[in-house]
Amino acid sequence: MLNIDDFNLDGQRVFIRSDLNVPIDDSGKVLDAHRIHQALPTIRYALERGAKVIVASHLARPDGVDLKYSLMPVADKLSELLDVDVFFAEEVLSCAPEAIARSLKQNQLIVLENLRFHSGEMENDSELAKSIAQYVDIYINDAFGVCHREHMSLSALPKYVEKKGIGFLIKKEIEYLDKIKKEPAHPFALVLGGGKVPDKLALVESMVDKVDKVIVGGAMAYVFLKAQGVKLGDTKVYPGAVGMARDLMDRLEAKGKTLYLPVDHVVVPKIQKTAQAFNTLGESVPTSHIAVDIGPQTRAIYKDALSKVKTVFWNGPMGIFEIPEYARGTKSMIDSIAALPTDVFSVIGGGDSARAVFEYKMADHFSHVSTGGGASLAYIQDRTLAGFKNLN
Ligand code: ADP
Ligand code: MG
Repeated sequence: MLNIDDFNLDGQRVFIRSDLNVPIDDSGKVLDAHRIHQALPTIRYALERGAKVIVASHLARPDGVDLKYSLMPVADKLSELLDVDVFFAEEVLSCAPEAIARSLKQNQLIVLENLRFHSGEMENDSELAKSIAQYVDIYINDAFGVCHREHMSLSALPKYVEKKGIGFLIKKEIEYLDKIKKEPAHPFALVLGGGKVPDKLALVESMVDKVDKVIVGGAMAYVFLKAQGVKLGDTKVYPGAVGMARDLMDRLEAKGKTLYLPVDHVVVPKIQKTAQAFNTLGESVPTSHIAVDIGPQTRAIYKDALSKVKTVFWNGPMGIFEIPEYARGTKSMIDSIAALPTDVFSVIGGGDSARAVFEYKMADHFSHVSTGGGASLAYIQDRTLAGFKNLN
């Protein structure tokens, strides 16, 4: 794949597919601008090189046009951060964006409205792609977070543009994730938590040979414990995944890899902010209780298990960290990884895990915090990403 700096951008209309999917409140205020900041190097570079820039992104999952999910506040934020004229196109599929894009001057930028306002985006519609391609000279994909999605702006559009490549954000993602995927320094620990259990079991499956330790928390852990016959009270266990977990345990054991599972939990009768949480004394969960986080003994064991590793890849929080009382396991995992020597290569992939790291202001302590959840998992499993397929 070519990079944006392989092209002569001067005077060219450059379409940049960014990931500007940020949380916005009812008054139209951007609540967390991380993604906008991460998109800036590519946008700035294009502007500095004399390009006429068209920036496009999705925001949330609107059902058709819903101004609650307009990208207008994002365009405002961009004009605040960039010292250039920013235009905004209210419709993706009208003559307006084309007319504006065609009349753009250097040092001007147009932001398209939320791509998902048009059903053709998620349907990967070729006609919509062609209509945009008409006014685009160079296509740049810099939206790593959605590269696993077969959507128009990622998949169909680059088919119809001759000059195409990736931006700096994706370039950096690939550099870091390649180190995990290709030649991780050993010992290599895979830390897994969160939900989406079948996806994550598949990740372990694909990494059985590379990894030395697999450390498990979150909803993931109960599937393994269930497979071992541990009593889990009212904790929700994905029934379809238990057999898969059992096979995986056997494979890990046969290959001499160590699997770490919680030896105690934080449990509650009901998941709610005010519920009284307590720690179990062992791996079983009492009847009428639900496990919501790893317990204190487990936190200590996991910290110790990480103390000698050279590479860590972490995906998925250790508990329901959105509720502060159930966030200790996740916080402790962040601290344990952050405390490792600086030559340890540590990568976080996963939207929620990354959010936790940003919330605790600990991102600087990791080698890399990936902007892609599903995309980073797909990439390190060597699956072809829809957003890369039509780029070479
Ligand atoms: P990521 O986005 O980092 O890949 P996931 O999306 O897989 O992570 O999982 C994050 C979600 O998993 C969080 O919303 C969290 O509340 C939930 N979760 C974590 N631990 C548990 C648990 N023990 N029980 C239920 N849900 C959990
Ligand atoms: Mg998530």
